[in-house]
Amino acid sequence: MTDTFTVIDPATERPLAEVALASAAETDAAIERAHEAFRSWRAVAPGERARLLRAFAAVVDAHLDELAWLEVRNAGHTIGNARWEAGNVRDVLNYYAATPERLFGRQIPVPGGIDVTFREPLGVVGVIVPWNFPMPIAGWGFAPALAAGNTVVLKPAELTPLTAIRLGELAREAGLPEGVLTVIPGRGPVVGERFVTHPLVRKVCFTGSTAVGKRIMAGCAAQVKPVTLELGGKSANIVFADADLAKAAATAPYAVFDNAGQDCCARSRILVQSSVYDEFLAGLGKAVAGMRVIDPADEASEMGPLISAAHREKVTGYLAGVEAAFTGPAPEGPGYWMPPTVVLADDVTRPIWREEVFGPVVAVMPFDDEDEAIQLANDTEYGLSGSIFTRDLSRALRVARGVEAGNLSVNSHASVRYWTPFGGFKQSGLGRELGPDAPDAFTEEKNVFIAHG
Ligand code: NAD
Repeated sequence: MTDTFTVIDPATERPLAEVALASAAETDAAIERAHEAFRSWRAVAPGERARLLRAFAAVVDAHLDELAWLEVRNAGHTIGNARWEAGNVRDVLNYYAATPERLFGRQIPVPGGIDVTFREPLGVVGVIVPWNFPMPIAGWGFAPALAAGNTVVLKPAELTPLTAIRLGELAREAGLPEGVLTVIPGRGPVVGERFVTHPLVRKVCFTGSTAVGKRIMAGCAAQVKPVTLELGGKSANIVFADADLAKAAATAPYAVFDNAGQDCCARSRILVQSSVYDEFLAGLGKAVAGMRVIDPADEASEMGPLISAAHREKVTGYLAGVEAAFTGPAPEGPGYWMPPTVVLADDVTRPIWREEVFGPVVAVMPFDDEDEAIQLANDTEYGLSGSIFTRDLSRALRVARGVEAGNLSVNSHASVRYWTPFGGFKQSGLGRELGPDAPDAFTEEKNVFIAHG
């Protein structure tokens, strides 16, 4: 009997679709087809591969609204965010469409002959995607991988497969040959595990929780299979007394409550210099109270629901025995709603300070000086992102260098720009996605020596 999954609209709790989940045998068959497709895909002339990627980007662009609305329904993303996410897939495809014609090797001076290197594609790449940003994370995996000449099998999260399935169809519509990008909805321990264990999958590109990431890394180690891991986070937003406090307070809620806090880069800890702590809290309270937590389909919506009842239960569990300093609004049900919640962190040993809550909860704590701010920011096993608000550029750079995280922003909360590398320190991950070097991570460097005479 076919295994299926009922996909739910988290804003209404209504069923949206019944999706068939692949078995291990079906996954193997898809991997073998992708392996077959690799033989011809890698041989496609670079200019033609570039043209096909641009054609894919154009088809995504033509379906931008359809994809965005699908994500509003399936993931509860606000329509504004969902449009950005679909646009990001298009932009990332266009960006890496430049790769096939610029996949340069090197010529290295050696005695006795000529030495050259080639960037060879790996083969079939397995991309495993979480439910929090189903579209962009899929694109960050498949766009550079395909551009470098690999074929891709992609597993969306069980809860949010709809946009990935549609992207797979759009790839075919754009002219990508069969087997070049295959979307396989399925369960992690079935489909995802096969990506790890199947010898024809030559790399696994995983985004998700640190717990599953460790398991995947261990599985890949058994085959010396390369792996990219984009995992959890517990990022700090550091506000110094000399900052533009009005801006820092007004923007802080969006740095954590965007996507209802279900963001690996969420600044879920706010560190505020003691001398401006009360003033900042007053501004933060006002900003949180003013957030528009409404139907994500409403153009004015700034925060939608959580992804599922089970996830909301997990998030609210962190608040047991913890008093909220203030909360923002949230609609009554149906839908997995929860108000944006601010707690004052009096104790750095509490789970709410240490663990990734992955919901609309932020902990605020004062600090006295720069050293203490850096020490508190680093007091976590994670190291993905962070923000620094100050008018002193030297301090901004000192602190940015001191914080153990892969992506820092000064007077901004931006984490992801597709032109720049993205990834985590410590248990937030391994390797980098995006930026100019991402395609290299989907190649092996081959060296060839040609003797003189
Ligand atoms: P998850 O680890 O539960 O699942 C992620 C994906 O892995 C899903 O597709 C799931 O089906 C699959 N999976 C589960 N078990 C597996 C197994 N044994 N083998 C192979 N695949 C398996 O994570 P989630 O709850 O979907 O996503 C939330 C997590 O993702 C958070 O921790 C968040 O911080 C992290 N995340 C990180 C980034 C980043 O770029 N660093 C981005 C987004 C999300």
